[in-house]
Amino acid sequence: MDIDFNLLKENFRLRNIEVQCFDTFEEIKTHILSIIPNNSPIGIGHSTTLQNINMTLSLLARGNIVYDKELSKGKEEKQAMKKKALIADWYITGSNAISIDGRIVNIDHSGNRVAAITFGPDKVIIVVGKNKIVNTLEEAIKRVKNVACPLNARRAGLNPPCVTFNKCVDRVSMDRVCNTLSIIEGQSEVGRIKLFIANEDAGY
Ligand code: SF4
Repeated sequence: MDIDFNLLKENFRLRNIEVQCFDTFEEIKTHILSIIPNNSPIGIGHSTTLQNINMTLSLLARGNIVYDKELSKGKEEKQAMKKKALIADWYITGSNAISIDGRIVNIDHSGNRVAAITFGPDKVIIVVGKNKIVNTLEEAIKRVKNVACPLNARRAGLNPPCVTFNKCVDRVSMDRVCNTLSIIEGQSEVGRIKLFIANEDAGY
């Protein structure tokens, strides 16, 4: 798909969301490390993309306090980590889809990631590859339900109907991975959300 990055940037700018484009995820990591002070507490939303670039380990290595549920040992610690991440100074996460018309669309199993993106941390950085970009909000929701959901469910060892059918069939399931569907339409605070896009593919 041809992506008009100037149009995408302008559509997000009008919604008070800042977009920066990079060639690689490694460049994004370097930039993130340059803009976040090394004494700031940081929450991390689950993201294969961030795991691929060892974002959490790089932040820990230079002294940041990092609330990443992947660091926790048991269920209680994981829950505590998710709660602390909600009030960290910064929050870094991936996203399931962004649309050129200016929307950020995510599904969440327990809701901690979409909660932090919506309110809490003073600054939010969302890291995505070009594979997450679609044209419209409608296409973003389709991507999230039919691409991200089955892949996320498999990763988490859950078995909702989209795992069997490889698309959403919207049946009630105890294993539902999309308990929350979030659409970020804009921000009241200019620059609170920064969207960093790599010209590479990663995650789902
Ligand atoms: S509603 Fe169910 S089948 Fe549809 S995407 Fe969500 S978990 Fe999968």
